[in-house]
Amino acid sequence: MSQHVWDDPEPLTVESAPVPEYGSGSLADLLPTLAVGMDVPDMTASLGELSPADRNCVFLIDGLGWEQLKAHPDEAPFMTSLLGSSRGGTGRPITAGYPATTATSLASVGTGLPPGAHGLPGYTVRNPETGELMNQLRWIPWTKPGTWQPYPTVFQLADAAGVHTAQVSAPHFQNTPLTKIALSGGTFHGRLTGEDRMDMAAEQLAAGDRSLVYTYYAEVDGKGHRFGVDSDPWRGQLMYVDRLVQRLAEQLPPRAALYVTADHGMIDVPFDEQHRIDFDEDWELRAGVALLGGEGRARHVYAVPGAESDVLTCWREVLGEQFWVASRDEAIAAGWFGPHIDERVYARIGDVVAAARDDVLITASEREPKESLMVGNHGSMTSAEQHIPLLEVRS
Ligand SMILES: [Zn+2]
Repeated sequence: MSQHVWDDPEPLTVESAPVPEYGSGSLADLLPTLAVGMDVPDMTASLGELSPADRNCVFLIDGLGWEQLKAHPDEAPFMTSLLGSSRGGTGRPITAGYPATTATSLASVGTGLPPGAHGLPGYTVRNPETGELMNQLRWIPWTKPGTWQPYPTVFQLADAAGVHTAQVSAPHFQNTPLTKIALSGGTFHGRLTGEDRMDMAAEQLAAGDRSLVYTYYAEVDGKGHRFGVDSDPWRGQLMYVDRLVQRLAEQLPPRAALYVTADHGMIDVPFDEQHRIDFDEDWELRAGVALLGGEGRARHVYAVPGAESDVLTCWREVLGEQFWVASRDEAIAAGWFGPHIDERVYARIGDVVAAARDDVLITASEREPKESLMVGNHGSMTSAEQHIPLLEVRS
């Protein structure tokens, strides 16, 4: 009779959100840990159990969450062999960081800092200097990169310490502001195909006695957004990227370690009004809101001055148990963006921050017509989007 009591979820307080493991098991901890192993000064090895290697390669697969990888052993036999198991794999999940989105995560990888410090805390955020929304993936409108994110990257610090450092990615990323603030240091090698990227990454890895190489593949995320996790095109991409990982693993030079990771996972959201709440059609959610930022599963809400607490109350009432809804100060105090927030970053965060708990979205059919039609989505703190693989191959 009372059995349902045991199944009740945790009460939906801001504190009940499963915050990323900054400083012990997050994406931002990876490069500093590898850098310590290569004797780069002033770095902290917060993923302490990784054994040092002279040559380190990070392969970041956009959108491949830990749960999605675990659910598809047939499509990803090589990566599956690297999971923690009786077969001796050491792979495990780490957390992406909040929000679980590409611009935020690439900045976390490259700077080794959580979002509250590097200052890219969302897909779109308000620029306090102009009052306008800024898209941090596309860098629109243009904003001076070195002012927006002033910290050096781990690549720059490694390069300065004499480590051979390189990035291998699609040619069109070479001169983007996001590459500049997140990935610069050493040399960038643009290669169109996945195979060419793997071969160049292996070549660059061998080019120094100590080396740090980053490489990237985008289309698992692309197919997931368009067709959904588990769709045929998504599975095809997973099979392809699994072969890429194997190709790179088989070319590792001596004294090398390859780490396969991702920037976030993904979750499919059904196409109905219960799961997709349209901000542009919802007068209650719009009341008192000056700007809507973030993305469907991780919203930054910027209130008209004076309306902050009314917006918070209203969003909590409308969204109920489907979202964790926090004021800026509550989200910061709960550690969503990291252990501390740089002063320049504070007002980039919404007056209200809403993170999806269920398979739901706050779409914006007029403001964001393309994004509102995506099948697969990400951004929040659920395991499906927050947990990413950390797989290791050593030569
Ligand atoms: Zn994406």
